[in-house]
Amino acid sequence: MASPRRIALRLVNVSKRYSEIIALDKVSLEVWEGEYLCIIGPSGSGKSTLLKCIAGIVRPDEGDIYIWDRRVNDLPIEERGIGLVFQEILLFPHMTVRGNVVYPALVKLLPKGEEIARETLSLFNLEFRVSNLPEELSLGEQQKTAIARALASGTRILLMDEPYGSIDPRVAVELRREVRMLAKDLGLTIIHVTHNQEEAMAVADRVVVMRNGRIEQVGRPEDLYFRPRTLFVARFIGGENNFLEGKLIGREGDFLKIDVGYARILGRGNVSTGHVVATIRPEQIRIIDVGGVIEGVVRYREFLGRIYKYVIEPVEGQALIVKERRKVEVGSRVSLSFSPQNVIVFEYPPEGLEEAIRYE
Ligand code: ADP
Repeated sequence: MASPRRIALRLVNVSKRYSEIIALDKVSLEVWEGEYLCIIGPSGSGKSTLLKCIAGIVRPDEGDIYIWDRRVNDLPIEERGIGLVFQEILLFPHMTVRGNVVYPALVKLLPKGEEIARETLSLFNLEFRVSNLPEELSLGEQQKTAIARALASGTRILLMDEPYGSIDPRVAVELRREVRMLAKDLGLTIIHVTHNQEEAMAVADRVVVMRNGRIEQVGRPEDLYFRPRTLFVARFIGGENNFLEGKLIGREGDFLKIDVGYARILGRGNVSTGHVVATIRPEQIRIIDVGGVIEGVVRYREFLGRIYKYVIEPVEGQALIVKERRKVEVGSRVSLSFSPQNVIVFEYPPEGLEEAIRYE
């Protein structure tokens, strides 16, 4: 029988204030050994503060932090057994790649440091760069060196704050794949803060969505995408989404029946009030000729590569964004079809829809 997975990191009700600002508000979270966890959220939502509390750079006002079951609140950063990687790439400029990576291992007299350093450099395809100085490397290679160095001290937990923030986006896409594969090869636990939700969805086993110092939702990328628990997550994850305000007018089997003014649609959700918001993702709407749920006119079209993006205006009512492989002409009358499974219904938020989904 496989041994049960261990919890690498546990946060219990961690809070941090900066005078009036609540940077973290009772955050609780468990991260499994070997898990790749991404933390995303708008700017100022508390992502970096959370990472800094785990690292020991910031001391929380309340709450407990455990690493491998040991409470680390009172431990200094160097005794927490974690590696740190930041957006700013911190290497010793006068040392070679090899020197940079092995240095902390030598300092700590780790018997395995050299071996881990060699293995990491080889997994990162940096063996042929070991004699180079940082300035002779690309930014991507420099960041890989910094990651290799963080790991050479023997840590099994790596904290990364916007690690690809300084790197060309095309290179970052390759680098994030290499780092994810390295993490899986070595069984590392990774906590990766990013403002880039696409990056998080691509590499994470689970994603934490933060907002205003709180965890809005934690889940696998697919959970956040297909089963958002809040309007904010429905908006923040996956880019564009459609939000239709309406009234709950009844039920049909397992589904809720919603009147959005110009159409009646079915959806799923847990609501008790009559005033609701139904969400439907642009790529889950099909354009058919007749007999769909909503009738409208194509107002706008963009070619996105594999699919087209459309803006479709119902006869009366708010325009919808649709992403569909089929090509139709601007000005055509079309009918939109979608499965009730893909319509997620929320109670209308007390603060108003715009405020509930705002993130900039
Ligand atoms: P994020 O990483 O999601 O952008 P941060 O964790 O950096 O968010 O910040 C959360 C909130 O705490 C923000 O409102 C920020 O302005 C505030 N904050 C963070 N660090 C400090 C600090 N050292 N002093 C005062 N306020 C801070």
